[in-house]
Amino acid sequence: MSGSAREVFHVMAKPTGAVCNLDCEYCFFLSKEQLYPDSEFRMSTEVHETYLQQLFAAHPADAEVNVSYQGGEPTLMGLEFFARSVELAARYAGPRQTVLHTIQTNGTLLDDEWGAFLAEHRFLVGLSIDGPREMHDAYRVDKGGKPTFDRVLRGWEVLTRHGVEWNALTTVNAANADHGLAVYRFLRDELGAGFIQFIPIVERMTPEMLPMADAGWGVRAKDRPLYRQSGSAVTHRSVTGAQYGRFLIDVFEEWARHDVSDVFVQMFDTALAHWLGMDQVGLCVHARTCGSALALEHNGDLYSCDHYVEPDYLLGNIAAGRMMLDLVDSPAQQAFGTAKFDTLPQYCLECDVRFACNGGCPKDRFATTPDGEPGLHHLCAGYKAFFGHVDASMRFMADRLRAGQDATALRDWYAAADAQRGRNDPCTCGSGRKFKKCHGAQANPAAPTTKT
Ligand code: SF4
Ligand code: SF4
Repeated sequence: MSGSAREVFHVMAKPTGAVCNLDCEYCFFLSKEQLYPDSEFRMSTEVHETYLQQLFAAHPADAEVNVSYQGGEPTLMGLEFFARSVELAARYAGPRQTVLHTIQTNGTLLDDEWGAFLAEHRFLVGLSIDGPREMHDAYRVDKGGKPTFDRVLRGWEVLTRHGVEWNALTTVNAANADHGLAVYRFLRDELGAGFIQFIPIVERMTPEMLPMADAGWGVRAKDRPLYRQSGSAVTHRSVTGAQYGRFLIDVFEEWARHDVSDVFVQMFDTALAHWLGMDQVGLCVHARTCGSALALEHNGDLYSCDHYVEPDYLLGNIAAGRMMLDLVDSPAQQAFGTAKFDTLPQYCLECDVRFACNGGCPKDRFATTPDGEPGLHHLCAGYKAFFGHVDASMRFMADRLRAGQDATALRDWYAAADAQRGRNDPCTCGSGRKFKKCHGAQANPAAPTTKT
């Protein structure tokens, strides 16, 4: 971790632990119920208060403090829990601290009462949706294996009806990875998403767990083997490096032509920050070091990262007398954060786009470099393709921003180049299709629709 922990850290609290009302096939977190076999998985009022008290105490006097909930499914706690969170935040925030309430949800339990509450307290809501119906329902199913698209759409309607600020959290997986443009146009045009995070699904498995995982588990989450970051096999639901690169390029080619400055795609913002030479970038996976995004379990256990809620990465318990800031600043957490850079294989250190990629998240570094060194990221091919593809555009935007101008000029740059392009020329995204049938088309007629 770089810089002072007090300035940069962020905690995602899991008030229901891993408990969720859905059973998404790719969810690595559901099996974490096994870490707490006798628990009822509800954050107590004592732990809740300790969390808020310590969170504000651990931040600088003039900081914006993010009070963040995710899961499992945090809305299972009910509205009262979040009303209390707002009260506790008001009680413990310093006079110059500001509060940002955030919640990540599958959206299926939201109703008008929720909508009014989230709007009143200006929550920023992360809504999990994987694209149009067929793609979303491929893996995002409930406990009975039933599709969830309609229920998520009802949740989205609640948010929009009440004017709640929301972000789309969209996984990139085997079912939607070949349809980047359709996914993006759906989020932008049908849902009106203004901020989008793409999350690649890499379900890392040991050979022993793979057959069960590939078969969709077939048992309840609590009976699955505990998911750990080990093994070098991946499930059929996982995205490949080549697919992920194509997906991002597909989206970028649309965004660059039409949406620069209007739609924020976290990966593109992060890339631009790197091309501008900034230290703090949005996505931890592409930061030089990490360790500043911790996970708090329902009982007060603080872990190094949401992806490492495993016994070996338990830092301590804030309800058992450990101070959150001490744990965040602990040698173990510092080592966790700096290892991200220190363990890069030579292949990454010599890579042209290392400054922007930084080797990706350590959890997915189970591939081998061409010269046989372990520790390469599973998605390396995609990262190389994407960061290489956007280099000229990122340089263009970075130059404009350094000159005090607007990055939106990238749209005009693309338009001028497109004006010279034949409609039957190959598309700039590298799909092999004609430009007029790909990014040169105003809308994708093949894109599935949400209209029911
Ligand atoms: S381990 Fe991965 S997900 Fe966790 S903070 Fe580091 S880069 Fe981010
Ligand atoms: S693109 Fe590949 S080689 Fe380059 S830094 Fe990223 S993971 Fe390493």
